[in-house]
Amino acid sequence: MNKSAPDMTVSDRRADILARIDAATKGRANDGGVTLVAVSKVQPDARIRAMLETGQTVFGENRVQEAQSRWGETFTAQRARLKLHLIGPLQTNKAGDAVSFFDVIETLDREKLARFIAKAAQAAGRCPQLFIQVNTGEEPQKAGVMPADLDAFVKAAQQTYDLPVAGLMCIPPADEAPSPHFIMLSQMAARNGLTGLSMGMSADFKTACALGATHVRVGSALFGDRAPA
Ligand SMILES: *Cc1c(COP(=O)(O)O)cnc(C)c1O
Repeated sequence: MNKSAPDMTVSDRRADILARIDAATKGRANDGGVTLVAVSKVQPDARIRAMLETGQTVFGENRVQEAQSRWGETFTAQRARLKLHLIGPLQTNKAGDAVSFFDVIETLDREKLARFIAKAAQAAGRCPQLFIQVNTGEEPQKAGVMPADLDAFVKAAQQTYDLPVAGLMCIPPADEAPSPHFIMLSQMAARNGLTGLSMGMSADFKTACALGATHVRVGSALFGDRAPA
C-alpha cells in the first residue's frame, strides 16, 4: 500500500490492517483467528457509515452513552447484525445499561462491578461476554485488576458471581515496549484456562497478533485521527 495515509479511504485502511493482521499471525499455534474491533469512539458519522459499508460488524466504544446514541439512534437499523464491545471504564450505576446494550464488556476490573453486572444480567435475562482488564503496568491512574490479584479475581467472577469470563484485556503503559505486557497477559490467561486475549491498538496490533491476541482494538489507524474530545 503506497498511498500516503491521509489519502486512504476507510475501506483501504481496513483492507491494509486485515492484511497486516494476517501476515502477523502466519504460523501461530492453535490459531482461531483475530477479531478486529473497530474503535468508533468520537468518529464522525460519515466514517462510521463508510466502515459499515465495508462489511465490518464488530465495533468498540468507550462510553455507554455515546454508544447508545450512535448505535441505538443514528445507526439503529444496523444494530442487530453488529457486535458491540465496551472498552472503556464502566461505573456501577451504568452497569444495567451496559449489560442490556453491549455484546461484550472488556473492562470488568473490580468485585463491586462484578456484583452489579451479575445483578443486572439476572434482571435482563442476558449477559454479555466479559473480559477482565488487567493493569499489567501497575499504573496508579489506570483501571484494571493488579496482576497479583488476578487469579483470585477470575475465580470470584466465575464462581461467586457466575459470570461468563471470555478472556483478559490490557492497555500497556504508553512509554514502554508493549511485548512484555502482552506476554504477561497471555501467561495469566493460560494459567486461568482463559482463551480470549484483547490486546493491541493502532500502534502495536501487529506485535499483539504475533503474541497471541484474539482481539485487537484499532481506532485511529482504521478511521483516521480522532478529533480532540
Ligand atoms: C481508544 C482506544 C483504543 C483505540 O486506540 P487507537 O490508538 O486509536 O487505535 C483501543 N483500546 C482502548 C481501551 C481505547 O480506549
